[in-house]
Amino acid sequence: MKQVDAILNKNRFSREDIVYWLKAEGEEKTRLFEASQMIKSQYVGKRVYFRGLVEFSNICSKNCYYCGIRRANQNAERYNLTDSEILDAVRFAYENRYGSVVLQGGEISSPAFARRITGLLRRIQEISEGTLGVTLSLGEQPEEVYREWLENGAHRYLLRIEASNPELYNKIHPEDDIHDYHKRLESLRTLQKVGYQTGTGVMIGLPFQTWEDLAGDLIFMRDFDIDMVGMGPYIEHKDTPLYQYRDQLVSEEERFQLTLKMTAILRIMMKDINIAAATALQAIDPIGREKALKIGANVIMPNVTPGMYRNNYKLYENKPCTDEEAADCTNCLDVRIGMVGDEIAYGERGDPKHYYNRTGK
Ligand code: SAH
Ligand code: SF4
Repeated sequence: MKQVDAILNKNRFSREDIVYWLKAEGEEKTRLFEASQMIKSQYVGKRVYFRGLVEFSNICSKNCYYCGIRRANQNAERYNLTDSEILDAVRFAYENRYGSVVLQGGEISSPAFARRITGLLRRIQEISEGTLGVTLSLGEQPEEVYREWLENGAHRYLLRIEASNPELYNKIHPEDDIHDYHKRLESLRTLQKVGYQTGTGVMIGLPFQTWEDLAGDLIFMRDFDIDMVGMGPYIEHKDTPLYQYRDQLVSEEERFQLTLKMTAILRIMMKDINIAAATALQAIDPIGREKALKIGANVIMPNVTPGMYRNNYKLYENKPCTDEEAADCTNCLDVRIGMVGDEIAYGERGDPKHYYNRTGK
């Protein structure tokens, strides 16, 4: 049996090491979590940063095989918040001292869309007098658009690689120009180059995914020198092409446990990055996100989208808290996060230390 010391003293995990720890059960799994917990409190502290998540539109031009809001899904009721609804949600996050917001939505590439986001970013700067952290998660965009958004107040960007093995990526996306692995990778590189705090992530428990794929995902994040990660369990959606492979999936509980182990191992591999506790964890376990915080994650993204729209942003089934209003979430999170021994860093942007270490800024 490998000991905690052996885990901690190992500077660089190989693919085999990662697979070994992904398979850990019982006492070994407990040891892994103890190690990651220790690293977390040493390097990022027991502080959790809030990002108010605004899912402002489910209109998307892409057709990813796993996603419930893919363009071809006729059953998705489409919505697009008005600017003032988005800014109200941002104001709510700001007034409740969330420190940062995330604007997320389907992928649309058009000059009008780019202009709209630029306008929103300027307004967010005004509302918060430039203090609010702003993350965008709006998919692949031309370099000049990424630059324009950065210049207007966005400073973090989340673009999941979804699956770092190109073969797996190709199995879960249509084979065409707009779902091209190399383009996605290039976009991620561009984000890092133009100066964003750059985040990526993957889905865990996808059909066709192997242990080596998952280990490769973590190595990809390390090699890329990523600043932030959001990774979560894959949860099937009945109106998507991947649904036909549901019989091949490991159980939801196994996907959940795998996500925790991926989080713990990544925390040990990349000590100073920000790791988000994925919302999808909560679709499987009511205190799933808190469990991820306990073993290594340090960011949580409370949903601040107005209640009436939340139901329609269904990337996957059983999405949690779709009936709640943002204010209800705040109270319950205070209690839940206290429960795992962490404290909420209210009013702090919570930029990843890794970004400063990486860039020397
Ligand atoms: N359109 C943007 C952002 C919104 S989608 C983009 O794709 O980058 C945000 C994330 O939801 C995706 O990156 C994907 O990893 C996740 N997602 C989509 N469908 C999912 C599913 N069925 N289960 C779990 N996560 C899913
Ligand atoms: Fe669109 Fe993102 Fe869903 Fe793909 S994952 S269909 S880009 S919203």
